[in-house]
Amino acid sequence: MKATLEEMYRDLGISRQVYEYGKEIEEQLKERFQKIEETVEYNQMKVIGAMQKARVSAECFQSSTGYGYNDLGRETLEEVYANVFHTEAALVRPQITCGTHALAVALAGNLRPGDEMISISGKPYDTLEEVIGIRPSNGSLAEYGITYGQVDLLPNGEFDFDGIRAAISEKTKLVEIQRSKGYQTRPTLSVEKIAQAISFVKSIRQDMIVMVDNCYGEFVECEEPSDYGADMVVGSLIKNPGGGLAPIGGYIAGTARCVENAAYRLSSPGLGKEVGATLGVNKDFFQGLFLAPTVVGGALKGAVFAANIYEKLGFHVVPDGKESRHDIIQAVEFGFPEGVIAFCEGIQSAAPVDSYVTPEPWAMPGYDSDVIMAAGAFIQGSSIELSADGPIKPPYAVYFQGGLTWQHARLGILKSLQSLVDKKLVTL
Ligand SMILES: *Cc1c(COP(=O)(O)O)cnc(C)c1O
Repeated sequence: MKATLEEMYRDLGISRQVYEYGKEIEEQLKERFQKIEETVEYNQMKVIGAMQKARVSAECFQSSTGYGYNDLGRETLEEVYANVFHTEAALVRPQITCGTHALAVALAGNLRPGDEMISISGKPYDTLEEVIGIRPSNGSLAEYGITYGQVDLLPNGEFDFDGIRAAISEKTKLVEIQRSKGYQTRPTLSVEKIAQAISFVKSIRQDMIVMVDNCYGEFVECEEPSDYGADMVVGSLIKNPGGGLAPIGGYIAGTARCVENAAYRLSSPGLGKEVGATLGVNKDFFQGLFLAPTVVGGALKGAVFAANIYEKLGFHVVPDGKESRHDIIQAVEFGFPEGVIAFCEGIQSAAPVDSYVTPEPWAMPGYDSDVIMAAGAFIQGSSIELSADGPIKPPYAVYFQGGLTWQHARLGILKSLQSLVDKKLVTL
């Protein structure tokens, strides 16, 4: 006889009590999920339209080697990205190794000695500190005579418009906005708020470049910062837009001039976009982008589900269970280290890959405390796949994101809860 769904969950280690608890929470989320589905549908139409407009064909899935001249797939894919983001051009390459690299290329390609860049959303993502030279680093922009300024967000998470006006000088060539909070506690910026900041900056001086670090934000809303005048939007393909299929890569979509400058930096002056073999990844890049709106929708449902589960148990969650979403990251503050560890063990044990290993806190380079990470991913380090990590220090918060399917995200969250229940860290 066919096993019931509850028995299927039981075989994967979910008790009846946890299963019922999850069902009860999910019941209350129908309207939220319906809204997410509407965004998925909108973005799916956008992506299909972008592919049709660029006349994607079977030839686009062929590979190139060596210099990679005249790679039809690569050129068409870049046209598709430009169509999706409504920009003049895009650079989408497997030679861009990660999000940090994409951002570094966008910055270094568009800044010259004597220029200044300012971040108007506060401290940028950790790894950018060394790119910019906020933390002294070999090869940073600072070493090339590019200066940096920063305007923090106001305590309520809004842009500090007076501060921005005061910080902009003749030297200011580029303004950076980070959409996602990353691993900070500030709220993530909505596209609407970013749009206001862009038009404010442009009202001061039209020729400043506005670059948005778009990591974790793609397809969460129906519009992107490039719809409101961002000169560049930049991100990683092992996050949202790769749809879980891209095995590597990053993108820069923006004005023809900015993208060209970035291309000269990525390959070489004189060569730019003309070189760069695709080594067989084209089909995965196209197909991943095609799936990305749905995958992002599943990850968002998971984040909302987790927020509501843990909020109801009395934990502080960011964003909270009701808030609108602008990226796919969910933070849960446990207040005690065992909570972070149990949560990560649960996520790991739900994975399709490496489910049998037990994650442990370790002294990761670049961090000032031990960090625990859970990831059982098809693509190493992919954070559009279900993954979680938490530094073992107060407030003992765990950050998690992704899930290639809503069903997997759901299982992961239930496993995390089961792990906390089994260790008697929470009672239902
Ligand atoms: C992930 C991320 C990056 C880049 O990180 P990589 O690990 O190098 O891909 C940059 N900014 C934000 C906000 C991010 O979330």
